[in-house]
Amino acid sequence: MDFSMHPHDDDKMHEECGVVGLWNHPDAAAVTALGLHALQHRGQESTGMVTHDGSRFHSHRGMGLVGDNYGDERVIRGLAGARAIGHNRYATTGDTVLRNVQPLYADFEFGGLAVAHNGNLTNATALRRALVRRGCLFQSTTDSEVFIHLIAISLYSTVVDRLIDALKQVIGAYALIALTENSLIGVRDPLGVRPLILGEVKHADGSIGWVLTSETCALDIIGAEFVRDVEPGEIVVIDDTGVRSIKPFPRMAPRFCVFEYIYFARPDSVMEGMPVYDARKRIGAQLARESHVDADVIVPVPDSGVPSAMGYSVESGIPFELGIIRNHYVGRTFIEPTDTIRHLGVKLKHSANKVTLAGKRVILVDDSIVRGTTSRKIVEMVRAAGAAEVHMRISSPPTTHSCFYGIDTPERGKLLAARHSIEQMAELIGADSLAFISRDGLYRALGHDGRNTARPQYCDACFSGEYPIPLPDMIDGDARQLSLLTETN
Ligand code: SF4
Repeated sequence: MDFSMHPHDDDKMHEECGVVGLWNHPDAAAVTALGLHALQHRGQESTGMVTHDGSRFHSHRGMGLVGDNYGDERVIRGLAGARAIGHNRYATTGDTVLRNVQPLYADFEFGGLAVAHNGNLTNATALRRALVRRGCLFQSTTDSEVFIHLIAISLYSTVVDRLIDALKQVIGAYALIALTENSLIGVRDPLGVRPLILGEVKHADGSIGWVLTSETCALDIIGAEFVRDVEPGEIVVIDDTGVRSIKPFPRMAPRFCVFEYIYFARPDSVMEGMPVYDARKRIGAQLARESHVDADVIVPVPDSGVPSAMGYSVESGIPFELGIIRNHYVGRTFIEPTDTIRHLGVKLKHSANKVTLAGKRVILVDDSIVRGTTSRKIVEMVRAAGAAEVHMRISSPPTTHSCFYGIDTPERGKLLAARHSIEQMAELIGADSLAFISRDGLYRALGHDGRNTARPQYCDACFSGEYPIPLPDMIDGDARQLSLLTETN
């Protein structure tokens, strides 16, 4: 029996990776570790780093959190050099093993290459089969290794041309960073589903250091300045001469992941020019306009429900209270020795603040309902604390479809909204009422006018089922992916 607290027990969709790349920094490894620490929310199961000191590559890959791995200064000292790439990973299956921890590294005839990526290739299984038939020997089950083999067998001579050759064969959503002996490379998929940004560090001697990373919060912690988003379909090649941009794909309408604004990104990040914190507050205000109910208090399900609950409170005029307190010190390996204790799992993470709840009509604000298990326990807990009514408001449309673009979601049959009406869901989670923000309302909150013509700006496939990138590896109408050989990153 597995007594460990499975990472999926919090009943959320999970971002599966965060990346940081650094070029020309005297403390590249330590600074990359700091950046990875800021991106810990994008992956908590393993972390890795590859550095280059001008003549040799060095690497560290380990299970666990960033702090567990780079807290030992011997590890940082071993990662010599002024160039680095690092990666945090959140695995989709329980078989997270060291060989899957990124960055992956390989030696080629042109020299060494380390690769790390965030996202998912939707034709990885087909590509992998074809590569195995050609004699390629895979060491891991990650998509990133598909890139490595495609680069290895390419007939082009330069690493950038080989990379372009590889990118033209893959289908999927990805933000990729790579370190060669002479360059740091960043790539975003042609629709820009996953984020990647460029930053710079101005050194005291006047030289510039460059940063590639998933979110602006990683720039803030290392004192770097935001330069710009890497554009959808763009390759940036950074070396001692500066930054070169290559755009090998035909231009397409971008489809950035709308769930980054709702939940994945850290609230202090700016995504595609929009502060995430502001976006969440506006989404909460729109939710209040759409789903009013008389109540005494607005209570966020912490932490992710906080900004949207604030927006809801301001718009509705109903006071905001911290009616649920989150315990931040529940580790992933917390031992739950009996089924009774296991049943109490949610109380390990959340406690009801009875003073703010007893006798009150409560509106709970959360960002999503995935399987509904946590929502049910939280509603139960708020009622047990004496709430007179419990109304649930969700700052995303119903999650009816799985994500195949690098986000960990249960298969469709396990998504509560895929099988039930909103009334049925309300009954199942035990709420007096339940409402989700509408799709049009979500776009209005993000600055669009809500008409259908404004929608293609984002990927919203987990709400709409409209997948903007083909899914060739899928095997049936339930959108189940051939994931036996390949895991997302
Ligand atoms: S399916 Fe949902 S979670 Fe996945 S990329 Fe699209 S919007 Fe984001």
